[in-house]
Amino acid sequence: MDEGAESLLARVPEAVALADAVGLGDELVAPATTAAAVWTSGRMRPLPTGTVMGVPADLRALGRSGVLSARGLARVPLDRVLPGSAVTGDAAAGDRSVADVVGGRLGAEVVERLVEPLLGGVYAGRADELSFAATLPQLAAAGRDTRSLLAAARVAQARSSGARTGPVFLTVPAGLGRLAIRVAAAADAECLLGRPVRELTRTPDGWRLVIGPTPEPEVLAADAVVLAVPARPAARLLTGVAADAAAELAGIDYASVAVVTLAWPAADFAAPVPGSGFLVPAADGRLVKAATFSSVKWPHLAAADPTLAVVRGSVGRHRDEAVLQRDDVELAGLVAADLRSATGVRGRPVAWRVTRWGGGLPQYAVGHLDRVRRIRAAVERQPGLEICGAAYDGVGVAACIRSANSAAAGIVDFLAKPPPAGG
Ligand SMILES: Cc1cc2nc3c(=O)[nH]c(=O)nc-3n(C[C@H](O)[C@H](O)[C@H](O)COP(=O)(O)OP(=O)(O)OC[C@H]3O[C@@H](n4cnc5c(N)ncnc54)[C@H](O)[C@@H]3O)c2cc1C
Repeated sequence: MDEGAESLLARVPEAVALADAVGLGDELVAPATTAAAVWTSGRMRPLPTGTVMGVPADLRALGRSGVLSARGLARVPLDRVLPGSAVTGDAAAGDRSVADVVGGRLGAEVVERLVEPLLGGVYAGRADELSFAATLPQLAAAGRDTRSLLAAARVAQARSSGARTGPVFLTVPAGLGRLAIRVAAAADAECLLGRPVRELTRTPDGWRLVIGPTPEPEVLAADAVVLAVPARPAARLLTGVAADAAAELAGIDYASVAVVTLAWPAADFAAPVPGSGFLVPAADGRLVKAATFSSVKWPHLAAADPTLAVVRGSVGRHRDEAVLQRDDVELAGLVAADLRSATGVRGRPVAWRVTRWGGGLPQYAVGHLDRVRRIRAAVERQPGLEICGAAYDGVGVAACIRSANSAAAGIVDFLAKPPPAGG
């Protein structure tokens, strides 16, 4: 089973199109349920329906869920009367953090108990550092003409449900990594795998890459280059090529996380689990920040062994990496203990595995969109060079496929152009 990314956002058409193109389209499966819960103040409460990344569009559904305290709930409608400019702010005021915008309009509890836990699943980041415009772009777009965040959430939700047909998430039962393997196999060129690029330099005809391990370097000449690596290696490779882009890339921070996969005999769960999983607000002080009931969520996992219940616990938040310094046994034991408290599961897991993703998730900090504009402007000054991946325009496999398509189109355009005179 997947121990990293486990599903594709089906609403990004490029992801499904790529799966189709490599013959995996017919294998894609949808989750059996996407209902989720918030484990807070010692109780499991349903994640309210009708939110945009936790920002409520439907106050009644928010009230029914019981996720907010009475006081927190009473604060939310103040959004309608509070003074202020448009949600997105005026351009001169610049970008603001998620906590600043959402907390300012709807109160701190909406941030702590809903928005930050949901964003935590994507960025493992902190609401007081993440950029509102970069991490909640659908709300930022809808909030341009209104100062009410509730109104912006309703508009954003109507837009996304208008565009929605079919499931929101899909996966490949044999493992989502199969997509990358199939893409590599489908390429009508040789793929050199496991050879890190250590140097990138310009030549009169294009590019020179030094690849492979230090003791056995190989040199590769290339007409064009797509840097599809995280921001840190991209910064290192661009230092001598586009120093301004390299400096900006070096400023993109990353969070480290771990996935702890545990299997219990299904009979050890006395009560049914609440849907596909649950989120845990940081304020509750638990180690586990989210859990997925994988064998409830994915029918193919349930079918593989109906006597087992498989749960994925996620651990690690940006600037709280110390929790990951525990060894695997301790980490798995602590996650199992949290899951026992959350679900009442008895006994010990029959199998477990810890998968660490050091520096796995880029942080779109306040000002991220401007930073990416500056990086792209510097890269555009280098003919035959493109960048793509999670560091720039969206975290997630589907967003990365979209960004890769755009980089590939840039390279195709570049190669179609006649070389400059004298070049
Ligand atoms: C635990 C976890 C769960 C996730 N779950 C989901 C999910 O369910 N759905 C979803 O859509 N997204 C999920 N994500 C996010 C998603 O996996 C990433 O955003 C996405 O894989 C990033 O793709 P990328 O190509 O930008 O970077 P990466 O996948 O990090 O790929 C970059 C590649 O560059 C290589 N590289 C680095 N340096 C060099 C070098 N010098 N030379 C050559 N190669 C180099 C690396 O080895 C790596 O293979 C999850 C992430 C994590 C950590």
